[in-house]
Parts: sequence; structure tokens; C-alpha cells
Amino acid sequence: MGHQSSFATSPSVPPIYQTTAFDVPDLSVLEQITTGHVPGHLYTRDSNPNHSALAESLAQMEGAEAGTVFSSGMGAVAAVTMSLVSSGDHVLVSGSMYGRTLQLFRRLRTQFNVQVTEVCVTDFDQVAAAIRPETRLCLTESISNPLLEIADIEPLSRVLGSVPLIIDNTFTTPELMRPLDMGAHAAVHSASKYLNGHGDVMLGIAAGSRQLMADAAETASLFGQNANPFESWLTQRGLRTLPVRMKQICDTTRHLAEFLQNHPGICRVHYPLLSEHPSFETARRLYPQGTGGIITIELDRGDTDAVSRFMQAVPELPFSPTLADARTTLSHPASTSHRYMTEADRQRAGILPEMIRISVGLESFEQLQSEFVRGLAAI
Ligand code: PLP
Repeated sequence: MGHQSSFATSPSVPPIYQTTAFDVPDLSVLEQITTGHVPGHLYTRDSNPNHSALAESLAQMEGAEAGTVFSSGMGAVAAVTMSLVSSGDHVLVSGSMYGRTLQLFRRLRTQFNVQVTEVCVTDFDQVAAAIRPETRLCLTESISNPLLEIADIEPLSRVLGSVPLIIDNTFTTPELMRPLDMGAHAAVHSASKYLNGHGDVMLGIAAGSRQLMADAAETASLFGQNANPFESWLTQRGLRTLPVRMKQICDTTRHLAEFLQNHPGICRVHYPLLSEHPSFETARRLYPQGTGGIITIELDRGDTDAVSRFMQAVPELPFSPTLADARTTLSHPASTSHRYMTEADRQRAGILPEMIRISVGLESFEQLQSEFVRGLAAI
């Protein structure tokens, strides 16, 4: 998708336009490109064919008018927010999101006078009560990191009325969830995760209305949040295998969650398709194919030492503070994504020292099962 060649024989994969700028034949062409009358690119911070190809692909996958790529998922969240919000405005954000996203909004509050209310997006009365005339957006994750709370997007968007709902669709991708079909205004992604899927890029993407994407692209250019061509190219390559990767990951994750639930070394498994998870009913309704590759476990009578012993016992399950690599990786939210919080705030948010977040990769269930058995035996 999104790739055009000027040769009679086109390359099977798009070329990488690894260039800072594009040579302009004369000023009338410059004018026509700048005003959008002829297609073309001028300067890679503003646009580049690899960025456009990826952005168009994601827009199609999300059912959106347009897309934009950014230097990272944080770049996507920041640029879309800054395109909708000014000093003095108010925003609603889910209180159970990726820790750095919450940290960004706390910074917007202290440094740029943006009024921020953290809400529980599954409590519609609370959301409705928090809306003010100056509320400019509501941001939540489709499935939250790391406790896997599911946003019921359709009724949430109805409660919000004219307040734009922005969904961070990183955990689910358009393979499992298309937020715009459910009434959301835009989707943002850390493409460093499933969209690319191989743990080797740092990239963000958003999809939404043509106007919002144009504003976000300008914000990204002004604040230097632009992507680079090679990473856009790699992510577009990743999209080719997204459906098969998501299917296998969903299947393996469901098996592994059921297995871990019955293991005596674990006292709690957070996985939305297990009946004791608070989002179980919503998960069954919205995610019949599965909820992606994340499971969060609490070690029985565990602490951070037990987490370290587990990590040392199974180097085959590497600790890596990311997710959605092709390999299964582990993370420890209390000392990575949520480390900026106080211990008391972490306890309140349910981020416990004995908690391990698992990102299931493309290995077989049997291989993962034997590695978890070995690691849990060691503690
Ligand atoms: N959104 C979610 C749900 C994430 O998990 C992350 C990173 O882990 C981000 C956004 C930020 O993305 P990036 O690391 O690409 O900046």
C-alpha cells in the first residue's frame, strides 16, 4: 500500500528514501507542492515518501481519513494532544495508562497550565461528571498497561458527546480493535510495539481526520517529533505480517494465561479473558479473537528479590523494558514504566513489587510453558 514507482518494473518492496531534502526544479513546482496542488516532498522533517506510505497504510487499517508518523509513541501522544489543547484548557485522561503518558500529562499541568483530570474510564458517571466546557479531549488506552483494563469505546464516546476521544491502540492494533468505528476521534500508537513487531524501531503513528493529522504533522515538525525514513520502512514491512503475528500471539497468550492461573507460585493473573478479571465481560464482547499478548502476574508471597530470582533462572525469557517483540519478554512495571510514582501511589494504582508483565512473542506455548515452570520452581 501507499507505494508508487516511476519505473516500468516496480521493486517488490518500497525503496527507502534516505534523504534529508528533495531537489526542486523551479519555484512554481515549489509553490504547487507547498499548496498541495501536486504531490511531492521537500524536507524530510515535514514529509517523506516512507512516512506517507506508512501513514496511509495505518489510516486504511484504522478506517481513518489520514495518518501521520512520529519519532515515537510518546511523540504521537504529545503531538496529537498539543494539536487539540492550549494553555488553560482541560483534558480527561485515564488514570490507569502507561506511566510515561501519565507523566507527560502531569508535566503539561505543571509547566503549561493544562488542567488534567484523571478518571476511571469504565465509570461513565465519573467521566460525565468530570466534563467541563473547556474539556478538549479524553485519552485512554484500548487495553491499559499493565493491568489490562478494557475501555468500552462506544458507550464512552457517547458519554463524551462532542469531546474528542483519543484511543491509544498500541496493545490491540487495528487487527483486534478499530476505535474509530466505535466513535473515537483518533487512534494513536507506539509503532515500536506490535505494528512493527520485531523490537527494532522507535516510532509512533496516529490516524484520524485529515485536519487533525495535518495539525499533528505540523506540531511534530515544529517540535522535532518527526520519524526517520528507515524506521517507517521497517514498520511498513512489519505490517505485512501483522495479522498472522496477532493471531498466533493471541492464541498462545490465552493458553499461557490459563496455565499460569493454575500455577501455585502465582497468586493472581491479570488477563481480560479470565473470568475473574474486572473487564472479562467487555473483553468477551469486544475481543473475540483475543486481547493481544500481555499477561501480568503477581508472584505468590513474592517481592522484588523473587522477581530477580525468576529473571536469573530463565534468561531465555529476557527482561526487556518494552513489549511486542517477536520474542517473549518480561518487564517489571514498578521499576520501569511506573517508577516515577511514589510507593503509596503505586499501591493505590495496583502496581505491586511482585508483579511481572509478560509480553508473549512468537514461541510455541509448550516452549513457554517449560520456561515458566523452570523459573517459578527457582523461587
Ligand atoms: N503507549 C503505550 C500503551 C505504551 O506501552 C508505550 C510504551 O511502552 C507508549 C505509548 C510510548 O511509546 P514509545 O515507547 O514508542 O514512545
